Amino acid sequence: MDALKDIDKPYAVSERIAPLVRRVLARNPSPFTYTGTQTYLVGDGADVAVIDPGPADPEHIEAILEAVGKARIAAICCTHTHRDHSPATVPLKALTGAPIVGCAPLTLDDDGPRADAAFDPDYRPDRVLADGETISGEGWTLEAVATPGHTSNHLCFALPETGAMFTGDHVMGWSTSVVSPPDGDMTAYLASLQKLYEREQDAIYFPAHGPAVEKPRQLVRGMIGHRRQRERQILRQIEAGRETIAEMVPLMYKGVDEKLWPAAGRSVLAHLLDLERRNLVKRHEESWSLMDKLQ
Ligand SMILES: [Zn+2]
Repeated sequence: MDALKDIDKPYAVSERIAPLVRRVLARNPSPFTYTGTQTYLVGDGADVAVIDPGPADPEHIEAILEAVGKARIAAICCTHTHRDHSPATVPLKALTGAPIVGCAPLTLDDDGPRADAAFDPDYRPDRVLADGETISGEGWTLEAVATPGHTSNHLCFALPETGAMFTGDHVMGWSTSVVSPPDGDMTAYLASLQKLYEREQDAIYFPAHGPAVEKPRQLVRGMIGHRRQRERQILRQIEAGRETIAEMVPLMYKGVDEKLWPAAGRSVLAHLLDLERRNLVKRHEESWSLMDKLQ
């Protein structure tokens, strides 16, 4: 658990981790958030951006404000609106008057069975950034990079001055992202991975959870490979006659803590929906079959 030790710093303390970048870790550790949500502060001058302010926890908000000090918050930015990322926008805006800028708001009509974090219904951005739009302050620029998949409203933020990329929950070094339908979408997720892979200018990733990623394109390529491997595994399961997710998961996730099987099942469903869209499988209620038995 060396990687864990590296980032298991005290909560509610601001740390400099890179030029222009400081980090404050929120006290919300869990199997889905690792040691907690990392809020990033960008900028060392008169104004800063706060990326993923995290849960509305007074201790965490106080630590962010202390780190901001006399600077002005130019923008409170969210990568997406899972409840471990955006709820602190409300108190932070109330306390500072800073605008909320970044991902679109999102509420789901159907809350159905889910394995990802719940959505924050109170998120109200002052400005939504489209792919490629930028905001800037003294010595820094943040460019929105639309990366749907983990959620439909997910954005990454690039900092071109240093080659840093804030990847939210899209790419993390410690774990694969949860992609849970209906909002999570594997087709979009894979396209968003490919999009990051093609960006050669990004030198380091700062995810919302877990350690920084220093060889980002290598990791992303591995992640694409991992998802393609899962996909082939699913096709083989169907071929072998295991046609429901409940039958596939215990075999595909042998050795994985059973508590994580429901989340794994959501991920298998996300793959199946992607395969269905590509006309490789079809669905009859809970059963899946191959479209045609080629080869
Ligand atoms: Zn998330």
